Amino acid sequence: MNDYYEILGVPRTATQEEIKRAYRKLARKLHPDVAGPEAEDQFKEVGRAYEVLSNPEKRQMYDLGGESALGGNGGGGAGFGFSDIFETFFGAAGGASRGPAPRGRRGQDALIRLEVELRDAVFGVEEEVQVDTAVLCGTCNGTCTRPGTSVQTCAVCHGRGSVQRVARSFLGNVMTTSPCSACGGHGTTIPDPCPECSGQGRVRNRRTIPVSVPAGVDTGNRIKLTGSGEVGPGGGPAGDLYVELRVRPHPVFARRGDDLYARVEVPMTAAALGTVLHLETFDGPEEIDIAPGTQPEEVITLEGLGVGRLNGPDRGDLKVQVDVEVPTALDDRQRELLLELATLRGEERAEPRLTPASNGVFSRLRDRFSGR
Ligand SMILES: [Zn+2]
Ligand SMILES: [Zn+2]
Repeated sequence: MNDYYEILGVPRTATQEEIKRAYRKLARKLHPDVAGPEAEDQFKEVGRAYEVLSNPEKRQMYDLGGESALGGNGGGGAGFGFSDIFETFFGAAGGASRGPAPRGRRGQDALIRLEVELRDAVFGVEEEVQVDTAVLCGTCNGTCTRPGTSVQTCAVCHGRGSVQRVARSFLGNVMTTSPCSACGGHGTTIPDPCPECSGQGRVRNRRTIPVSVPAGVDTGNRIKLTGSGEVGPGGGPAGDLYVELRVRPHPVFARRGDDLYARVEVPMTAAALGTVLHLETFDGPEEIDIAPGTQPEEVITLEGLGVGRLNGPDRGDLKVQVDVEVPTALDDRQRELLLELATLRGEERAEPRLTPASNGVFSRLRDRFSGR
């Protein structure tokens, strides 16, 4: 069995840096361009050892079970070529050694904004958005070629998509691989591009896309429409479309979470005597009972008339706060009646009654709006 540590000449406790240094030294010494073809097997072995020990996961598996733990490719560097080593050491050079690059690439995601009314957030709505985006070219169907013609194998790289050349490096003269510039790495050229899309496989177009806006959405929420983004170059798969929502403020109803809030003004006399108010809600006209003796700032809750919950069938509440209107500009008769009322109630010389601050209007407000 090959001992990778022995091959690299490092102890089993070697750090990644020590392993890298040992490999670098050996690769320089054993590279076939330097040491000749006799050293090739040893060179491959070193590469294999480095590939395993430089990868913490593979190293751990190797430490536990030796080569067999690594599976099929443990046989002394079989199928382990120079380009792999080169990549291991320098990082892949733009994927140049991985064969021709496909012409079609995934399109970009797109973001579009959509304004909806508060009513739409309450119930949900079917909307449409207009998107100016790249769509598949209908003339060539993404093949990029003029109909009736086809792509041709690149004469420079013979379809490989990459070209090799000799370069000097610390290893001596080595072969490097880089993308073929004649075909852009695709391995094929287009002698007769599609006239509609100029060989891009896609064209700009305005599309109308239906968007299902669920109840409960709020400003900033995004809806993802998979595959509705722009089509990729060369007829590649489309990206996704994100619809970012903004809920327009409503002149009457304010929103906090799933609850709606409204304020109604009732005359002082109505607050004292009681009355029934008619309020136009999103669910139609509702009657609101103002009980006799309703106090300023009192909140009346209409259950289930709020915003639909995003993750469930039920709805928040509609909370109506009562403002009591104190009459101004009394005429003589009204003033007379109020004075008479004050006398009857013993309030003609009312002293201000101080109430503890905790019972004040601010804490009442806080209690009522804290989701009781
Ligand atoms: Zn086309
Ligand atoms: Zn080429």
